[in-house]
Amino acid sequence: MKQKYRAICESGISWNTFRIGSLSLLLLSVIYCGKATAQNYFQQEVNFEIKVTLDDQNHLLRGNEVFEYINHSPDTLHFLYVHLWPNAYSNNETALAKQLVQLYGKEKLFNDPLLAGSIDSLDFRDNSQKLHWHFLKDQEDICQVHLNEPLKPGDTTYISTPFRVQVPQGEISRLGSSGKSFQISQWYPKPAVYDKDGWHPMSYLDQGEFYSEFGTYDVSITLPENYTVAATGELKTSHELQRLDRIANDTIQFDTLAEEKVSDLPGSVKFKTLRYTSQNMHDFAWFADPDFHLTTQTILLPESDRKVTIYALSTDHQAELWENASSYASDALLAFSKWIGDYPYSSFTVVQSKLKSGLGMEYPSLAVIGEANDAYSLDEVITHEICHNWFYSSLASNERLYPYLDESLTSAYTARHMLEKYPDSKLWEIYIKNETLAKFLNLDQQHVLQAEEYYWLSQARNNLEQPINLAATELNAINYSLILYYKGARGINYLRAYLGDSLFDSAMNEYYNRWKFKHPQPADFRLAIESHTGKDLDWFFEDFLGTTKRLDYKLERLQDQKLLIKNKGELVSPLVIAGMKDDSVYFEKWIDGFDGQRWIQLPAGNYTEVKIDPNHVMPEIFRKNNNIRDHGVFRKADPIQPQLYFSIEDQEKNNLMFFPSFSWTRENGVMAGMALHNGFVIPKPLEYFIMPFYGFKHSKLAGYARMFYTVTPFQKLVRKATFSLEGTQFGAPGNQNYQTLKTGVELFFRSSQQKPFVQSIYGNYILASDLSQLNREEKPEQNSFVQVGYHLKKRSRINPFILHSAVEYAQVYQKITAELNYRLSYYGEGRGLDFRLYSGAMLNEVSAASLYGLAPAGRSGRELYLYQGFYPDRFSAFPSTFWSRQMTLNEGGLVSPVNKSLGYSDWLFSLTLTSSLPRKIEKLPIKPFLTVLLNDTGGEHHDNPNVFFEAGVKTGFWNLIEFYIPLFISNNIKSEIGPFKDRIRLVFTLDSFTQINLNQRSVF
Ligand SMILES: [Zn+2]
Repeated sequence: MKQKYRAICESGISWNTFRIGSLSLLLLSVIYCGKATAQNYFQQEVNFEIKVTLDDQNHLLRGNEVFEYINHSPDTLHFLYVHLWPNAYSNNETALAKQLVQLYGKEKLFNDPLLAGSIDSLDFRDNSQKLHWHFLKDQEDICQVHLNEPLKPGDTTYISTPFRVQVPQGEISRLGSSGKSFQISQWYPKPAVYDKDGWHPMSYLDQGEFYSEFGTYDVSITLPENYTVAATGELKTSHELQRLDRIANDTIQFDTLAEEKVSDLPGSVKFKTLRYTSQNMHDFAWFADPDFHLTTQTILLPESDRKVTIYALSTDHQAELWENASSYASDALLAFSKWIGDYPYSSFTVVQSKLKSGLGMEYPSLAVIGEANDAYSLDEVITHEICHNWFYSSLASNERLYPYLDESLTSAYTARHMLEKYPDSKLWEIYIKNETLAKFLNLDQQHVLQAEEYYWLSQARNNLEQPINLAATELNAINYSLILYYKGARGINYLRAYLGDSLFDSAMNEYYNRWKFKHPQPADFRLAIESHTGKDLDWFFEDFLGTTKRLDYKLERLQDQKLLIKNKGELVSPLVIAGMKDDSVYFEKWIDGFDGQRWIQLPAGNYTEVKIDPNHVMPEIFRKNNNIRDHGVFRKADPIQPQLYFSIEDQEKNNLMFFPSFSWTRENGVMAGMALHNGFVIPKPLEYFIMPFYGFKHSKLAGYARMFYTVTPFQKLVRKATFSLEGTQFGAPGNQNYQTLKTGVELFFRSSQQKPFVQSIYGNYILASDLSQLNREEKPEQNSFVQVGYHLKKRSRINPFILHSAVEYAQVYQKITAELNYRLSYYGEGRGLDFRLYSGAMLNEVSAASLYGLAPAGRSGRELYLYQGFYPDRFSAFPSTFWSRQMTLNEGGLVSPVNKSLGYSDWLFSLTLTSSLPRKIEKLPIKPFLTVLLNDTGGEHHDNPNVFFEAGVKTGFWNLIEFYIPLFISNNIKSEIGPFKDRIRLVFTLDSFTQINLNQRSVF
């Protein structure tokens, strides 16, 4: 399958929507033990005969199948496991349903009868004798069929069953329909694989693929005659072959096919039967649509001279892109045949469909492709799916257990083919589309495949990798893409670069020939490569595939044609060095991996610089230590790369990015300045952001600066430690300034990659100007504060939460607080009931007038003694100006401005509920809220507990500016505040300081 990595891009996992000041820019943005298994190798054989009829009106398949099961194993079988995968769509408790919730936040999907699918009417028989069968407990998409007679080694049995499939609407996974487009895959009762490790029954999943027995297929599909079908195997029905010829002719002539007009009718009454046969295949899928056009091509395979016919079926949708689809297919088929060995079948079909799961999906001799963004992307996805004819169709590994044996290998060959075919395609052409913008952002030179390195680095630099060789269900959704597809592919092409193309290709050819139409396991792959190359590739098979050891060599010294290299990473693997002068390469040399440091003798030549891996073939995590010059003062220093506004970091340069910035506060007036930073898309050990301003009102300097230093220990309890230093200065009343200086450390703990929990502890030391003194326009003293806290986040799409507890210590007070923000998701992601539970206590009593107590209502700027957030009008008294209504909704969480009249509390509990609107009116930008607060103050009765109540609505632009309107308030609030309009307050979330850089951090 080709992952929707651009969908990942859109969901902001690695490229973020970030904002700067008032500008915002959306950046496109096992090894398993055991030796050769070949001698005792066996595989079962399953030969199918299936007859099925499509009822396109009712989205039903009615079929009968009989399969011949030949027991080639040394064991006597008493039962078979049979997959009934349409049942994955039958209720909300299936493995698929549970995974869809976890991956996409799609909850209770199958309550909708249109989305539900199923298989029923089953009656398994051996000849005419009924067989006892039952669903597996809690796995209705697998059944166990008990044999009447034990099936001895070498024996054959014939099992038949009728079946009826309710085809779900095609919005969920690989089986479905959309109007008159039918995507029929994983649709018939199909035995699980029995191999030397026993049975492999597996529930259908969206993330996680398949493992099936080889055999023959003889499938007859009966359907309304206006449909055109793309299917696995070869079409044997002569009148349909003639019809396809006519469609192909009409496609060439760009005519509308007369026959096609029937598709406008509400279902044709005349039916036809199409027969397909195939050998050496382990699955059968078919796609039907009345509106298919067809282009065909024939190619001759390089090794055997065998003829292969290519069919490309597509609709009018994206027709201009699909014009070249059969050429994309023939280029890829020829390239892979040359590199790996001849394509194993006599035809190949690529079909366009309204696929909702991934960008494309492979079946033997068939690929289905969904929406494509552009011609390059269509070629890439077709190429990827075609490569699966080697790594899946013919080398049929257990994809669920060893997904890298199909996806990493396929992605590696895809990248190789695309690089050869499109050596000059640029990243901007696919991701930015606008050359002027790309040039402006200095993103006009990177090759399009560089994106895959950036994606992988975004995960690797956060120390969030998982080993490549894990099972599909052990990889989290992000790593399933970034590690399995991108890092895995880079690793295989790294091995190829090290071995050289010809040795690598001949080794892979041997693997292919030895295991074609079989079920190779990781040890078989390793043995084939190692025995052919005669090399011990432990570093690759054990360490690169099986661990998260990082690759990072550093050039230390260069003198007298000798180079000192240090291995700073954990991976001990080969490296390539090159002698360069400008961009010309004088020599290139592979060195076997080593630990520690080593002197290397260099060849003589006119080169002036030595670089590790100038062509990015090694998955190096840090490249800034990869070069050294033979002269000069700063021989290891990287050139400074200035860049207006923003770019993706050039990993080999010191990026200095800058942009003019403007802002306004009441005290500073209009401010102009220049922001400086070193990028924030791909995490780096040292990151900074400095934004100095000149305020025109009183000709004063203001600004903000922040610096992070991050370390990512290998396999330690602490996954990431971030040390930070930040400072601010802005104007305050009386022509003064307020200042803050904060230094802190946050430790993020390693957690199970499959669990959505992130835990961290932090400690901060803060110096801040005394706010009360500033409010009185006195010269402020500097107060010091110490904070220690704990964060626990559940980052799931359904029912996420954040728990934050902290102790804050200052000379005059100590307080302890805990806050839980929890979303009860009603129906999928992004909708639900938000709970905010807050409690706090002062450990020593403070006066009700002290700002340091617990605030019953959201604090205004003049109450935030640590000066958090961006407040244009921080010091104006409520409600004198528009911006004086700004607040930070923390502590007690009331909106009504009662802090001043009620005073601050020694203890406080509050609960706020905020709800999404009912589905019918969910688009309205309104959310009702309700807050109940209990604290120790209450106007005159100061020490008595008091309950406050407030309910209202908030509206505005989420994540920009939100207005809170309390409509109903309890009497004890009413008595403390002014008229209705003086309860309305706002939260301003377009906050440059918290948005920049931190988006990514807050995610992890
Ligand atoms: Zn794939």
